Amino acid sequence: MTTANAYPVTQTIRTIGILGGGQLGMMLAEAAMPLGYQCVFLEDNPECPASLYGRVFHSDQLEGFIAAADVFTLEFENTPTSTVEQLVSLSKSGSKQGMFPPLIALDIAQDRLKEKQMFNTLDIATVPFMEVNSEAELKHACKELGLPIVLKTSRGGYDGKGQFVIKQDSDIKAAWLDLKDAVSGKGSLTPTPAPLIAEGFINFSREVSIIAARAQNGQVRCYDLVENHHHNGILAKTQAPAVGTSHLFQQATDAITKVMNHLDYVGVMALELFVTKDARGHNAILANEIAPRVHNSGHWSIEGAITSQFENHIRAVVNLPLGDTDNVHPAIMVNVLGQYPDISAVLNIDGAHYHSYHKAERDDRKIAHITLMPNDVTDLEPAMAKLVAILPNKVGLDKEYASVDTQHSKADVDAKINAKNSTQNSIQNDAKADDLDNKDGQADSSTAPSSKSEKAKK
Ligand code: AMP
Repeated sequence: MTTANAYPVTQTIRTIGILGGGQLGMMLAEAAMPLGYQCVFLEDNPECPASLYGRVFHSDQLEGFIAAADVFTLEFENTPTSTVEQLVSLSKSGSKQGMFPPLIALDIAQDRLKEKQMFNTLDIATVPFMEVNSEAELKHACKELGLPIVLKTSRGGYDGKGQFVIKQDSDIKAAWLDLKDAVSGKGSLTPTPAPLIAEGFINFSREVSIIAARAQNGQVRCYDLVENHHHNGILAKTQAPAVGTSHLFQQATDAITKVMNHLDYVGVMALELFVTKDARGHNAILANEIAPRVHNSGHWSIEGAITSQFENHIRAVVNLPLGDTDNVHPAIMVNVLGQYPDISAVLNIDGAHYHSYHKAERDDRKIAHITLMPNDVTDLEPAMAKLVAILPNKVGLDKEYASVDTQHSKADVDAKINAKNSTQNSIQNDAKADDLDNKDGQADSSTAPSSKSEKAKK
């Protein structure tokens, strides 16, 4: 029988409302489309990247945005919690299908103090830290933690903004003067009063992150641990997987799984970590922060994973089974900051994929990213060298591209697979499982060991 309704009758969600309309929203919409979903955006810039993919509502038009969508998510964690509260209450009243991730995840991610307290409650190691509300408390923290320390605003900072490294006692005054307005709520970064956080300065060896997706039935699937390099506090390069970190993968998946389960999280989350030495001199990870959304260090997954972080986020939000998060091939993602390169020169590099965000050029603005995934992993280093040579803004990579590590040992891959399988098999069977048509996802998990070993050998 034919019907005028182009959608399957069981499909109650047609449109996803996304808070924010930047490149993350754009890439979420790109992933939603083939699954049959449209997106609309709440965003004050009508020419935002996501506007190419769906209608953009100004924050003054919140009612229209709400009316246009069936379920809600976000691409920007500094979204006012009052807006999210409204979407949650509409979902509770039954008129909408939900707001994912939950409000509590946003509330915690917006506050470094709450975030670190949560990590410690869950037995996840962090740098030592103390709350600071006055110059006297700052002096006390410097003494307790020992210099150097990093003083940060607990709210409102991003890409390294709102931070001051105190190396010696004589820096304390300047640090306090620089950040004290945040405590009274006068600062440009923090419109409401919020304490500062003093953190012990960690001499980490590497910065890594792990991204995972959690479904509405509690299933968690983790991507590879990746290594991140920053330039002036902005992500410049991500290598996926991070080489030589298989012994840390289980710690990282345990940590993000604990956080997601604790928050009853739905969607994709990133956990940023420092690699350092523990008391016995072994490599260990310290949790720095969560991002309750898809993350820049997961952009490689568009081409480099079986299911991208964007697709898995959409799947979680609309209550579809999660896809396999395995890496299909080692990849490097490079952010294009400030100025566009010659696209034909980029695509002349074998295995290069280009993603423009359709933004105007501006100093240090993220305007595109490039993923390098040459067929032969030994070509990664030469491909990076070629790419760096043609990037107008080399984001500091000109000094280090030669260090791209291509040694993916079999032991690394095997250990990673074992750890990943044990995570994926720990599906929580909570009450919501009955509501979910998730048989494919669960069957996939239970047959995972053999199929993953096969994939890894290819
Ligand atoms: P965040 O805004 O916390 O992500 O910090 C931005 C960058 O500053 C991180 O990616 C690290 O490179 C560095 N950083 C942050 N906190 C610390 C710390 N406690 N010790 C050393 N470096 C840090």
